[in-house]
Amino acid sequence: MLKMKSTCETCSAPLRDDGEAFICSYECTYCAGCASAHGVCPNCAGELVRRPQRTTGVAEIARRAPARLLRKIQGATR
Ligand SMILES: [Zn+2]
Ligand SMILES: [Zn+2]
Repeated sequence: MLKMKSTCETCSAPLRDDGEAFICSYECTYCAGCASAHGVCPNCAGELVRRPQRTTGVAEIARRAPARLLRKIQGATR
């Protein structure tokens, strides 16, 4: 599961799971301002993409997901 970091790595601005944020392939995480200022990841010079927003919790996923997916989620968090 994608680690949802809660702060920007360069300016420490708070980032909400369901707000706008940018990540590189190593999951370095930045606010929109830093992402557009640098263009690429300041740590690894990798491509920055918009982080998918997480609007629901694991409990909500478990409630909706079929048993097959549920096992996968439990396996990933163990
Ligand atoms: Zn920032
Ligand atoms: Zn990076």
